Amino acid sequence: MSLKYPQLSSGPHNSRFKMLLVAGTIAGLATLLLFFFARGSTELNPPLAPADSPTNASTENAEPPPPPLPASPIGLLHATLHGPLESAVISATNPQLGPPLTQVIVRTLVWWISVPQHLMRTDELWAVYETRDNAEPLLHAIRFSSRKTGKTHEAFWFHPEGERYARFFLEDGTELEPFLVDGPLEEWEQITSHLNDGRRHQGVDFKVPVGTPVKSPFDGVVVRKNWNFRGNGNALEILETGGKRRCIFLHLNELPSSTRPGQTVRKGQVVAHSGNSGRSFAPHLHYQLMDGNNRVLNPIREHKIIHRKLSGEALAAFEKERERLRQRLEGKTP
Ligand SMILES: [Zn+2]
Repeated sequence: MSLKYPQLSSGPHNSRFKMLLVAGTIAGLATLLLFFFARGSTELNPPLAPADSPTNASTENAEPPPPPLPASPIGLLHATLHGPLESAVISATNPQLGPPLTQVIVRTLVWWISVPQHLMRTDELWAVYETRDNAEPLLHAIRFSSRKTGKTHEAFWFHPEGERYARFFLEDGTELEPFLVDGPLEEWEQITSHLNDGRRHQGVDFKVPVGTPVKSPFDGVVVRKNWNFRGNGNALEILETGGKRRCIFLHLNELPSSTRPGQTVRKGQVVAHSGNSGRSFAPHLHYQLMDGNNRVLNPIREHKIIHRKLSGEALAAFEKERERLRQRLEGKTP
């Protein structure tokens, strides 16, 4: 059986991102050089000093000028769709940033519409994003006017105090992503790929650090371990007791030798730890459910899901952050 598991951050995307990063760095250096050349040339014709500025003679004891501020890594995108989403994002930003930024944007859009099927001409998109060295861009806020849903959707990135991960929340403080009850993880940072994101992905990818405990979603028996190691890495398959469903975990940390086919496991028992093994380019857990006919099931439908909501002080802090981000979305804050 061959498992396909393309991820937002995997394979060609990843190497492409790295190439773009290199290209971006070269472009950035070239810009800097141009900037210094331009500065050099203007200094040949020094502007007249303002009346109250010190003359050259009196600057000897003056404090050195402050270093120039680094270019802000925070950007605002506003795009109207007239074709593929990525083209619109590239037009609104640049060819280096556009593709990786599109990927992180899609991870929020998929909770409102199917991408790309439901994207329509004149849909409008706003995003506040942050560019980072050696990492994909970070989305702080997104607003999306969809002709398909007839609504304007918003999500805001917020880190509730005392919690491990910052996540996306809707306007009222409800989490953007569903929470899987009795799922394999207690918590995660983001679902980076799932069945409805147009990638023919067979499972759900949860962004979690290496070593995160992974629990069995049902009572069952281990049927396979570490097959197709090059692609899957450390992998585990469990058959549900009295049922026909099977769950598959890929890219795990090394499994103990005591884990072997025939071993029985209980629902909620920690059966593995997440990793970054096999064809995986960022730590995450691939969780896949199959039925008795080898058909892929959607974990988000198979599990009971809830939408957790902020309350009390966390909600108040979120509302403040939401308003700050809205100002940014509207371009009112530089
Ligand atoms: Zn996956």
